[in-house]
Amino acid sequence: MSDLTCKILIVGGGPGGYVAAIRAGELGLDAVLVEDGRFGGTCLHVGCIPSKAIIHAADSFRALAEPAALAAIGVTLPPPKLDYAKTVAWKDAIVARLSTGVGRLLERAHARSIRGRATIVDGKSAIAHSDTGEQRIVCEHLVIATGSEPFKLAALPFGGDILSSTGALALTQVPKTLAVVGAGYIGMELGTAFAKLGAKVTVVEALPRILPLYDEELTQPVARRAADLGIEMRCGARALGFADGALRVADSEGEEASVPADKVLVAVGRRPRTEGFGLERLDLTMAGPFIRVDDRCATSMRNVWAVGDVTGEPMLAHRAMAEGEMVAEIIAGKRRAFDHRAIPAVCFTDPEIVTVGLTPEAARAAHGEILTGSFPFRANGRAMTKQDDEGFVRIVARKDNHVVLGVQAVGAGVSELSSAFSLAIEMGARLEDVALTIHAHPTQSEAFHEAALKALGMPLHV
Ligand code: FAD
Ligand code: NAD
Repeated sequence: MSDLTCKILIVGGGPGGYVAAIRAGELGLDAVLVEDGRFGGTCLHVGCIPSKAIIHAADSFRALAEPAALAAIGVTLPPPKLDYAKTVAWKDAIVARLSTGVGRLLERAHARSIRGRATIVDGKSAIAHSDTGEQRIVCEHLVIATGSEPFKLAALPFGGDILSSTGALALTQVPKTLAVVGAGYIGMELGTAFAKLGAKVTVVEALPRILPLYDEELTQPVARRAADLGIEMRCGARALGFADGALRVADSEGEEASVPADKVLVAVGRRPRTEGFGLERLDLTMAGPFIRVDDRCATSMRNVWAVGDVTGEPMLAHRAMAEGEMVAEIIAGKRRAFDHRAIPAVCFTDPEIVTVGLTPEAARAAHGEILTGSFPFRANGRAMTKQDDEGFVRIVARKDNHVVLGVQAVGAGVSELSSAFSLAIEMGARLEDVALTIHAHPTQSEAFHEAALKALGMPLHV
């Protein structure tokens, strides 16, 4: 077995791992990245990118299939037709293009990469098992970026017509009927997309309402739109099993019913990938199923680091990337620590939801008296011209010094406002900073401006 030595060995080439490798390479550190599958990880191949491609295709198809909305702006068209195989080929081409791009970025940064499975031997070495054989890699620093995988339900084992998000994104035909178990991120994003593509969708959620991780004011517009799309919601229900094209469910009273389903998408959360590659040899301190890290992503073992989903919530690609970047910089000698305050979360439902920082409730609990301001898109000219004025932007600030603590929004296209919201919190902006910033007219971002003005008691357009 040949030996390879390096400064940093990174296990896992998802957003956390490949960004760590690129930054390490840019900083002149000798980095080796080992990836079992394809560079880009869950996010690029079976997560963020393919799901957003399908959501876009579904939105485009649905827009043409709403004759009343089109007629209102003077457009009439014959009913649209969908060639879903072409949609899937288009989605796959985007993924392939980005995946090649990640490979090029690694090369350009002079980060060495190995396609194979890494088995950890100890905190300073691992074995990479690839098609060309085995290689022992000896390092000064080990970065674990092995990500996560779908949580399994014993009553609904994956296989056949029971799909994880990976299976749902690999479908080559739109199912006539689709049952979705779990009304979280994946269930609501993909459930909505498949409903727009023509499937009859039923969502089964254990808790009393959809998207329970967001406050209800933010999720109500999503629930209303889902109802308009004909999605049947069964909240407070349990999925008992699947047989003969039907999902058996029990409501909160225990009453059983049968939901017709050609396919079942199980999306009840994800668990960290911590087994099967020798992690136990390190005897790391865990936080439940996740690897415990401090604010520098250092584990309980010296020079062993962990980034991304394997370290816990929020399981978001941009958090993994920011952590990967930070760890490479710390190893290069920079002083860095991770600040969780300004991590945006975006749910690509219809309408979209964005949150950054603290909700009013959390802000009140942490800081006492607060100011809030909310501005509805129905008073925003740009939203009206886009025929979608559902939703609002809400800003939360301390009452004493007006420092912005949180921003939440729900509305069409609000994902693109997330950077303005994060920047305000990252820069420690006060309400006056947002209020005195000139926001272009007519844009949806004016709702952010107006929300700050409202919190200051000086609204202009409401
Ligand atoms: P991963 O991306 O999971 O990468 C880990 C990599 O490690 C994998 O490629 C795996 O093959 C490799 N690996 C594991 N073990 C080994 C080993 N022993 N040896 C070698 N390699 C190994 N997040 C967002 O921010 N926005 C979104 O819109 C979004 N949409 C999503 C949609 C879906 C359907 C899903 C499933 C997830 C979505 N996510 C989204 C979450 C996002 O994909 C993850 O947070 C992100 O991929 C985590 O990055 P990571 O680097 O920690 O892990
Ligand atoms: P999730 O945690 O978002 O939602 C899971 C849902 O399933 C919850 O509402 C939960 O109450 C419900 N549930 C749990 N057990 C159940 C059961 N037995 N029966 C019925 N319902 C049940 O998880 P997810 O949707 O699988 O997504 C996994 C992770 O992927 C997310 O936490 C998120 O971090 C990431 N993700 C992010 C995005 C994004 O950023 N836009 C998109 C997709 C996924």
